[in-house]
Amino acid sequence: MEKLFDSHAHYYDSRFAREFGSADALLASLFDESVAAIVNIGTDVENSHGVVAEAARWQNMYATVGIHPGDGERIADIDGALAELRALLGTAETRARDKIVALGEIGLDYHYDDTDREKQAYIFEAQLKMAEEQGIPVVIHDREAHGDTFAAICRHPRVTGVFHSYSGSAEMARDLVRRGWYVSFSGVVTFKNAPKVSEAAAAVPLDRLLIETDAPYLAPVPFRGQLNHSGYARYTAEKLAEIHGITTDEMVKITRENAERLFGITL
Ligand SMILES: [Zn+2]
Repeated sequence: MEKLFDSHAHYYDSRFAREFGSADALLASLFDESVAAIVNIGTDVENSHGVVAEAARWQNMYATVGIHPGDGERIADIDGALAELRALLGTAETRARDKIVALGEIGLDYHYDDTDREKQAYIFEAQLKMAEEQGIPVVIHDREAHGDTFAAICRHPRVTGVFHSYSGSAEMARDLVRRGWYVSFSGVVTFKNAPKVSEAAAAVPLDRLLIETDAPYLAPVPFRGQLNHSGYARYTAEKLAEIHGITTDEMVKITRENAERLFGITL
């Protein structure tokens, strides 16, 4: 069985500690059995420091640092937080040492009614500029904000990366691929009520697909609603393989190689 690359998870989430005492035993068995590598994704300055520390403890765990639109909204001193993030992002040299493989997750989230869209746009734009200056890929969070997110990345044509847990149209997916982006699918692609996500997955060529869990969230069928972990990403791979008419092992291998290429990792 090919080992899978989980391109997006949050292993610092307290739900792992509650369920397992700590995520350590779980991670040890996952790396042992079915998982080649995991990118642990930061969402604010504090947990961005945390994912860098975790990446140092696990051979095949990598980190991204960034301010998520939802987390950013709660920060009072945004410019202070961005300066701290900039320091953590460092240089190509320190990033290689710290195993920081992307800036993220960053983007726009219009799901909640009380969203401060202006503040989100400011934080997103500042981080896109940072990525441009540093020549580092980004991990995009786009929830119910497809038009504005797409417009923002079009303003920075030199920045590419991955749209995580993709939920946009097949047409936008094709546009993203043309612009050099990767598109990542989570357990949502296995949900019966998400045919649009399957359509988008079919529109992405094999060499631009990534697989992720977004653990502890978005567990695939048959574990929908439960605590998610990287071992369950196999079900997402199975569904993507079915959509593209290849075997699950082939899909696992292809998406692992894609992730290595995007994040500049050699496993
Ligand atoms: Zn996430």
